[in-house]
Amino acid sequence: MRELETITHFINGAHTPARGQRFGEVFNPALGEPVARVALATPEEVDAAVAAAAAAFPAWSDTAPLARARVLFKYLELCHQHVDEFAAMLTREHGKTFSDAKGEVARGIEMVEFAVGIPQMLKGEFTDQIARGIDAWSMRQPLGVVAGITPFNFPVMVPMWMFPIAIACGNTFVLKPSERDPSPSLLHARLLKQAGLPDGVFNVVQGDKLAVDALLDHPVVQAVSFVGSTPIAEYIYARGSASGKRVQALGGAKNHMVVMPDADMEMAVDALIGAAYGSAGERCMAISVAVAVGDATDQLIPHLARRTEALKIRDGMEPDAEMGPVITRAAKERIEKLIGQGVEQGATLVVDGRGYKVQGREDGFFVGGTLFDNVTPGMSIYQEEIFGPVLCVVRAPDAASAVELINANEYGNGVAIFTRDGGVAREFVRQIQVGMVGVNVPLPVPMAFNSFGGWKRSLFGDHHAYGPEGVRFYTRHKAVMQRWPNTGSVKGAQFAFPHMK
Ligand code: NAD
Repeated sequence: MRELETITHFINGAHTPARGQRFGEVFNPALGEPVARVALATPEEVDAAVAAAAAAFPAWSDTAPLARARVLFKYLELCHQHVDEFAAMLTREHGKTFSDAKGEVARGIEMVEFAVGIPQMLKGEFTDQIARGIDAWSMRQPLGVVAGITPFNFPVMVPMWMFPIAIACGNTFVLKPSERDPSPSLLHARLLKQAGLPDGVFNVVQGDKLAVDALLDHPVVQAVSFVGSTPIAEYIYARGSASGKRVQALGGAKNHMVVMPDADMEMAVDALIGAAYGSAGERCMAISVAVAVGDATDQLIPHLARRTEALKIRDGMEPDAEMGPVITRAAKERIEKLIGQGVEQGATLVVDGRGYKVQGREDGFFVGGTLFDNVTPGMSIYQEEIFGPVLCVVRAPDAASAVELINANEYGNGVAIFTRDGGVAREFVRQIQVGMVGVNVPLPVPMAFNSFGGWKRSLFGDHHAYGPEGVRFYTRHKAVMQRWPNTGSVKGAQFAFPHMK
């Protein structure tokens, strides 16, 4: 049998051989077979990465913001040169189509384009003469060593929501990527080094819960950014903040798209097909519930059924593939089980994606596009985040009941409304309890210069990710007041609280 490559850590500017004895398997989901094995870090290896980051912090945080940005400019150039290499890794280890993978890399690159401008955001504010001879200003300073823990579904982009911003702000970073698709993390590390980033500023530890817990409990780690499922996000938030860290933990989702009867139906069908089945539904912003208002259902279902049946499901490297496999055999089994529960609980299965086979890829983890009608809030297919290519249609009598349904849902990541009525859309935007809202836009993922985050159980913590919120998360505010003996009168001890007369 062929020896599999072992993916290990990157600590203090170098690939580091695994010291532990635990390994995971990395699969090509389209083939259904392992393509590599990944080292699962011990707490000692995590400690070595944190120590390297701590040692690099004084010099990096003292480096002028513009000099830090110039390293990221170089890295940005290198990212552009390596788009295809990143994308091929994504398709190989995640399964998404090559064109979708390139889109992921492009959205990650936008984060670096934002980060190179961060010196502008670190300026602070100055007030001259707040009292006679006294000036005041505020500044933002980096936190120290910060950690990122990321999910399998965007292994290039989600780490880029974190480290370019953290590093531009003067922090040093330890990344713990998903053990399902770990290779892109090492390409990031190599390119950052090639761009001139000093050793120890960016480190990678591969691993699972053991490595995560070591980071959460580590006294030197100042802050943790997490993206993943809701139960783990809640755990990360509780454990990280209990040990005194700043934590932002982005969780799972159940995103609805409301289709009003006056919507442009062709546009709505296109939007639903792309947003429900793109990346096999494994996006935190995927639309998994269509809320059809009034007679919109009758207009939608036949078109959705035809388009779902016609999806081109292939190995993601096939040029015409529209959808690839799901991440693991366990994910395929879990999704197919949920489809079965939907049927048992009374939903109408319009298109059944169970048992889907792709010719020449018979062992791949493929699930066909699946469409349910007559889904109700009590069903498990409505309540659970399926994270697969399953679209549920729920019927609602009017816009107000659609809003009520969505606001009662425990998640609040993304939502969309399709309508031609500006007044209905405006009221929807105001009333809906969800962090990211699209009007005739199915996946309202904010640009790098805005910030990304959900409400309710889709995010634990106060800060959204990247953009201005990211800069706030990775810096501390400091207020300074200054007086020099020769600029103002000092008139002996003052016992009353100083105030303006
Ligand atoms: P996951 O929660 O299983 O894993 C995320 C990370 O946590 C991984 O690095 C993993 O190694 C680690 N982890 C897993 N179990 C752990 C445990 N018991 N203790 C400590 N660490 C643990 O998520 P996933 O399956 O990799 O990713 C899919 C999920 O991520 C979906 O729920 C999706 O909605 C969510 N997601 C959310 C966003 C967002 O922005 N809100 C973005 C992408 C993905």
